[in-house]
Amino acid sequence: MILSRLVCRARRVQIQVGTLKGNCIFCGQYTDCGHPGKLKTNFTGYSYLQSGEVICPYCYELYNNEEYRKKMWLATEHEFKTFKRNEAKEILLSSLPVPFAVYLTKTWKKQGWITLMDKVNYSPKIFFVGLDYDVVLAERQRLIKYLDLIQDLLEQGVTKKELATGQLRVRSLERIGMDRSLWDKITMLVGDKLWDLCLFIS
Ligand SMILES: [Zn+2]
Repeated sequence: MILSRLVCRARRVQIQVGTLKGNCIFCGQYTDCGHPGKLKTNFTGYSYLQSGEVICPYCYELYNNEEYRKKMWLATEHEFKTFKRNEAKEILLSSLPVPFAVYLTKTWKKQGWITLMDKVNYSPKIFFVGLDYDVVLAERQRLIKYLDLIQDLLEQGVTKKELATGQLRVRSLERIGMDRSLWDKITMLVGDKLWDLCLFIS
C-alpha cells in the first residue's frame, strides 16, 4: 500500500478530487482526478519526487496539511496519531499492527513523508522509520539492544554527544570501568543510522 492512501484511509479523509490526468509527482501512481503538480516556492524536496505532472488526491492531502511535516506520527489502517518525541521510543517498541508507517522529525518542517511513500511496513520485526528525509531500517532486536545499551550508558553518565561521536571523555571511560570492548562497540556504532535514531529518541 502507498503511504498517502494508508493515511487517508486511517483518517477517513474526504479526499479532494481534481480534474487532471497523469502520474502523481509524489507517489508515481496514475490518476485521472489529479491537481496541478505545481509546488509552493518553499518546497525543498525536489530530489525525492517521481516523474509525473499532477498531484493525486491522496498526496494532495499530505502535501497541503502541515501536520504531516510538523508532527511525528503513526499511521495504521485504522488509526492515525501524532505523538511527541518523548513518546517515540514507546511507540517503536510497541507491537504495531501491520500495515503501518511511522515518521519522526528533528526539523519539524521537512516534507519527509515523501520518502516513506513506498515504505509502508508489513513486518513488526523489521520495518522502516522515516526521520525527516532519511529512511532508517529498524530491525526490532537491534532496536531493543541499542535502546537498552543507550539507556544503560546514559544512566552511567555518558552523554549522548559522546555516544554519537564515539569520543568518550576520560571521566566517561572511568564511569564505564575502562571497559575497552564496550568502548570499541560504541565506536563501531558511530554513524549507524539506527544508533543515531535511538540516541535521538532516548
Ligand atoms: Zn500521489
